[in-house]
Amino acid sequence: MANPFDSAPRPTKYVAHPPEGQEDSGAARRLLESALNYPWGDALPASGTTLELRPGVRWLRMALPFALNHINLWLLRDRQDGIEGWTIVDCGIADDATRAAWEAIFSHELQGLPVLRVICTHMHPDHIGLAHWLTQRWGRPERECRLWISSTDWNVARIASQSTTGFGGEAAANFFAMHGLTDPDSLAQVRARTDYYSRMVPQVPARYRRLLDGMTVEIGGHTWQCIAGYGHAPEHMALYCQGLGTLISGDMVLPRISTNVSVIEVEPEADPLRLYLQSIERFRPLAEDTLVLPSHGKPFTGLQVRIDQLQQHHQDRFAEILAACAERPHSAADLLPVLFRRTLDLHQTTFAMGESVAHLHALAYQGRLRALPGDDGVLRFTTR
Ligand SMILES: [Zn+2]
Repeated sequence: MANPFDSAPRPTKYVAHPPEGQEDSGAARRLLESALNYPWGDALPASGTTLELRPGVRWLRMALPFALNHINLWLLRDRQDGIEGWTIVDCGIADDATRAAWEAIFSHELQGLPVLRVICTHMHPDHIGLAHWLTQRWGRPERECRLWISSTDWNVARIASQSTTGFGGEAAANFFAMHGLTDPDSLAQVRARTDYYSRMVPQVPARYRRLLDGMTVEIGGHTWQCIAGYGHAPEHMALYCQGLGTLISGDMVLPRISTNVSVIEVEPEADPLRLYLQSIERFRPLAEDTLVLPSHGKPFTGLQVRIDQLQQHHQDRFAEILAACAERPHSAADLLPVLFRRTLDLHQTTFAMGESVAHLHALAYQGRLRALPGDDGVLRFTTR
């Protein structure tokens, strides 16, 4: 297929970001949510405590300083080499409040047992931020507390955390400008935001154990299978335990918001939305009564319904974009009011821009839109 982006400039730097997906309007969201079941209702684990969801599977939440104000983390009862303990799944960002919340968990919720390993579903700051601290905190001279993660995400996280410049910065600003974000204040703020990742992920463990699609991990006598997913993070790993009827979905399937799927400036011709929509189909073989443990929102059942909803959500966005681009060529920035019917702050605008480009690219690669480089340097898309 012809590359619709041949004429696009190619910035070279990398930016990484946590999820912050689109939200449907209130009424639409309530209707969609009513199709899912929340077995624990409105119950939430208070800070520093856990809620047991399945035997040996505990839910905890940590605060996040974003519009998306929390992340769910999981404690799995484990046993390794005859040592009883726990596996942590995902970590929270590296700040004092999250470390303090973990210390409270360690004091009251571990039944006096150690943490034996840390699994990260992917490299976004809210998931891997404290992996270094946790593995150091629980490592012993005779037994390291190992980070388990996909190789792709470990490598990207290492590079991102060790870079003091170039995360966001000039390349990101140029990318957003090419896609029509021309407001000088916004671009100046993007340019200035160079330590976005390393602030929340100051260090990543120097050694790790590699998670691969399809491999199984024995945790406390239960077999968990890795299911790789693309489009949200470089190589996201969800974990499925048939015996417990439980899927740790990470950010790939969320009950209330759609997963952030963005084109970013290091891979400016990417088609991550195609990858994402293909990836969530990989959860189709799982039973409908599977308990889904998402990284944001509440544990739920109704996985197949939710996959249907997410597919439909993106088809609806495609239809809106095609209608707009049939009237006149639109840049990704032109489409923000079409896709996001609410006021966005700068942080949200950068996510929204990435998502807008992702939808445009998916349609362009399907041959339903064509990219038109403008004399003003802005890339617009048309159905003609
Ligand atoms: Zn994420």
